[in-house]
Parts: sequence; C-alpha cells; structure tokens
Amino acid sequence: MSSKRVLIVGGVAGGASCAARLRRMDEEAEICLLERGPDVSFANCGLPYYVGGVIADRRKLLVATPGQFRDMFNVEVRTRTEVVKIDRPNRRVEVHDLATGTTTTEPYDTLVLSPGATPIRPPVPGVDLPGIYSLRNLADVDRIHARITSHRATRAVVVGAGFIGLEMVENLVRRGLKVTVLELTDQVMPPVDPEMTTPVLNELRAKGVDVQLANGLAGFEQGPSESLIAIGADGRRATADLVILAVGVRPDVSLAKEAGLEIGPTGGIRVDDQMRTSDPNILAVGDAVEVRDFVTGKPALVPLAGPANRQGRIAADVIAGRDARFRGVQGTAVVGVFDLTLAMTGATEKTLRRAEIPYRKMITHPFSHASYYPGAHMMALKVLFDPDDGRLLGAQAVGKVGVEKRIDVLAMALQKGATVYDLEEAELCYAPAYGSAKDPVNMVGFAAGNVLRGDVEPVFWDQWKRLQAEGGPMPMVIDVRPPKAVAKAAVPGTLNIPLSKLRSQLDTLPRDREIWIHCGVGKTSYYAGRILKQKGFDVRNLAGGIVSFKMEPPSG
Ligand code: FAD
Repeated sequence: MSSKRVLIVGGVAGGASCAARLRRMDEEAEICLLERGPDVSFANCGLPYYVGGVIADRRKLLVATPGQFRDMFNVEVRTRTEVVKIDRPNRRVEVHDLATGTTTTEPYDTLVLSPGATPIRPPVPGVDLPGIYSLRNLADVDRIHARITSHRATRAVVVGAGFIGLEMVENLVRRGLKVTVLELTDQVMPPVDPEMTTPVLNELRAKGVDVQLANGLAGFEQGPSESLIAIGADGRRATADLVILAVGVRPDVSLAKEAGLEIGPTGGIRVDDQMRTSDPNILAVGDAVEVRDFVTGKPALVPLAGPANRQGRIAADVIAGRDARFRGVQGTAVVGVFDLTLAMTGATEKTLRRAEIPYRKMITHPFSHASYYPGAHMMALKVLFDPDDGRLLGAQAVGKVGVEKRIDVLAMALQKGATVYDLEEAELCYAPAYGSAKDPVNMVGFAAGNVLRGDVEPVFWDQWKRLQAEGGPMPMVIDVRPPKAVAKAAVPGTLNIPLSKLRSQLDTLPRDREIWIHCGVGKTSYYAGRILKQKGFDVRNLAGGIVSFKMEPPSG
C-alpha cells in the first residue's frame, strides 16, 4: 500500500479499467483519471448499434460516470481535460482544461497512458467536406445521428470493410439506408483469410449492400442538395447523404513521442510485459501500445477492447507491486454481419506466411448443434497448426450459430499451447440444442489429427484452381457423392463415382496419376480416401468439399 499519486491519461477501456483495479489493489493511492472528452468509460463497441437503434437509449452507452468513479472507487475524474505535455524529469504533466481554457501542471509518481488510437482519415481530395465521419466516441455518433435526421438520409457510403465498417453497414441498413462499401483490398474483413470471408460478402450483397472490392477511395466531391459523391479508384461514383470512414486506426502516440518514450517499429508505444514504457515511471496500455503477437512473437498493433482492458488491469497490479504479466495478443475477435458471425483467434494463413512460420491447415463444415434439432446451421471452421507437433496456431469460423463459442474454446486452447490432438479429446457441453456428441471442436481436431497421422493427405481448392490456371497436368478429380447431390451442384470437370460404387470400380482408376476426391463437406470423401489409400492409390482429399469450393474467391 502506498500514498503515491497515479495519473491516468484516457478514461475509457484501458484507463478506466486500470483506475478501478488499482483502487481495489491499493486503498491509499491517489488516483486521477484525465479524459479529454466529455465522458469516461463509455462503450465504444456499442456505438454502431446506437446508430442502428439496437441500443436506443444513449445513456446505456455510459458504462460508468465520473460520479460512480468517485463514489465507488474514490477516483477523481476530470473530463474535458487534455494532457498536452509530459515533463518526465520533474514527473508532472501539463493539463489543458478544455472548459475554461486554462493550463495547469499535475505531479505524478506513476503515469499511465491509455490514449487509444486515432481513426485514419485518408488524405484524398474532399475528405473534409461536411457529412464525412469517423467513429470513435459518442460525439461522433451524435453527429452521425444528427446528419441522418437533418438530411433525411437514405444513402450512405462506408469506406473500409473491416470490423467497424461492417458493423456500421449493418446498422445503417437497419436504419433504412442504402449502403455502398468501398474496400481497397479484394475481400471484406481484410485481416481474415479470404475464403472465410466469402459468406460475409454474400450476406452483405444478399441484404442489398453494394460492396465494391478492390476499389479504394480516390476522393469526394460535393453533390447536389448537400449530398456527397464518393469516387472510387476505378472511377465509379456513389452518391450519399453521409459517409463513414472506417479504414483503420493509428496508435495515438503524440504525447509519448513528444516525451521521448520509445516507439516500436509498428508505431505503437513500446512496453514490456508489465506494460512499462522506456520510462519506468510511465506505463502504457490499450490501442496506443505495441504488443507481442502471441503466435508469431513479432511486434503488432491489435486495437481491441479485451487486450486494452486486461492491460489496464495488469498495469494496475504492477503499480500496486504485484508481478502481473501480459501474455501477448492473440487477436481473438468477432463480428456480426446481419445473420452471420465471423470470428477468429491467433494467426491466419496471411500472418503465418508473412512471418515465415510453417503450418498445415484443415477446414470443416460442422453443424452448430445436432443437425436433427431445430435451428442447426452449418458453419465453416478452419484451424492452422504446427506441421510437426500439431500445436494450434490459429482458428477462424463463420456461420449463423455457435461460431464464437467454438472460437472461444480454441482461443483458450491456443493460449495454453494445445495441439490438434488435444482438440480431439476436448470434453465440451453436449445436448442436442447446444452441440454434438462430437463437437465441431472435436471434429476439426479429428480431421487435423488424421492429416498429421498420415491417414489423409489434404489438398485445397485454391491449389486446384492454381493448377487449372497454370494449364499443366491435372489430377483426376472424383466427386464421391450420390448422383442426386451431384446433379444439384458439381465442380466442372470432375468425375462422379459415388462412395457406394467405389469399391467395385477400383479397377477403372489410374495408379500412375494423383486422384483428388471430394464430396459435400469432406466427410464422405474421407471414407472414400481411406479406401483408396489402403488400396495403394495416390489419393488426396479436397478439404471442405463443395462447400469450400463455393467459398474459394474467384481469383483463387
Ligand atoms: P480508448 O477506449 O479509445 O480511450 C482512449 C481515451 O483517451 C479517449 O477517450 C480519448 O479521448 C482519451 N485521450 C486521448 N488522448 C488524451 C489526452 N492527451 N488527454 C486526455 N485524454 C486523452 N473492440 C473489440 O474488441 N470489440 C468490438 O466490438 C469493438 N468495437 C468497436 C467499435 C467502435 C466504433 C470503436 C471505435 C472501437 C471498437 N473496438 C472494439 C475497439 C475498442 O473500443 C478499443 O480497442 C478500446 O477502446 C481501446 O481502449 P483504449 O483505452 O486504448 O482507448
């Protein structure tokens, strides 16, 4: 216990979390939370849903008020108070009172920085025209609300199809607006592996959203009646009553930089695993800091609320003298897009390739719960794992129901260093309404374990598409589903030999050519593959079957 003075800059996720935890750890410390904006501890993650009306009462977004901080935690909160300078040698900060315009200094024993991240505003012509918004705080949503109402908005453009962009799309559609999305890359949700985002793209288009991929923003022009025209790099023009910019955030390191604190290669404040900056009297947490990627070990920026809150808590423990340590960030995240949920944890193929980490992968399409019980929906569940020991490196899932539950299980498994063999043995909740006796987590473990044990040699549709594009010799591709199923949807150029006939037709199959087999989702072809493998054929299983084929982006 101490009577030290702790100043915390930024009063939302990381800062508020730190203040409340510190009080629980140290009843004597003098804790002061300094926040530039008018509110502390508001729910930034709820902002898009306030725009859409799902959260109708603005007050619900205020998780804790300054009064509650004072009464419950004996924490002094000063809103509309901007910290403009850190005087490290004298351990004090210069504070600008935005209400009165006065500047004072405040001493500290320990300073915690949680200033968050700033939305990126692309430097394109017209970006400062009225009606173009970023979304960071309550003031932003108030402006967006006001614009929608005052301009009787019916059309919006959202620039960027990441988490915040897509949440805004959904909520603007919910408000009755027609939405166009401009996305620079050739997929929605750029951090995720492309094939896992295809269902999301389809869902957006099915809901009437005009998604323009590979069409970065070139600029804006003023349109008639105060409307805006968003111009894409390909020249397409979309007229809108308002525009949301959601092209990412940049760590707000202005204070830290000016104070000479070390900034990491990604541009975030460098901290150790106790959230200490290069100055031992200053800690930093949240979106502003550079974290260690839990899987790759590389420095990364992962602006998410979970890590910010946990880091705030760890910083508090460290200030209170405890040996708390941050484990790094897995990037466990989830987004809802209309009727779909997309979730992920750990590395993607993209990150593993970039980090030159070898991996193997498996994709399955299990039902969310027993398929005979009402409300079951198929999901796509993909895992990435170490080719030698099967350690889980990452997982992604997309579907209507039960997606985040599986990713949460896999997130914990990954953090504990579990292998795909451990997934086979995971004992998870089961009753027909909730799961399956072999849960999707078990199933993906079985499928991946089969690969590592050499029972199955998987191939993927992107490999097939690449071979086709190269025009070289192709494997024989056999669809082992019943003809009725093949008649409904088939991959062009494939041969149909149903599993039930396969044993009797082995003599017709080549022994000097690779045979790639597939079915609907990969289960029947697993049975078929085991037959062919045991009979000595050079066989590969196209993982995920025709469902995965449909998810493969056109470019392959
Ligand atoms: P913030 O919560 O942004 O708080 C920083 C605060 O510091 C700000 O209020 C700012 O005014 C203040 N500040 C900055 N500089 C100064 C200064 N010099 N003096 C005084 N005060 C200062 N994450 C998820 O995990 N899931 C989600 O669903 C999700 N949805 C989101 C939706 C939206 C619209 C937004 C904007 C973010 C969302 N996030 C989500 C991200 C999440 O909100 C952030 O990762 C988290 O809030 C970061 O916490 P922080 O404390 O670092 O920064």
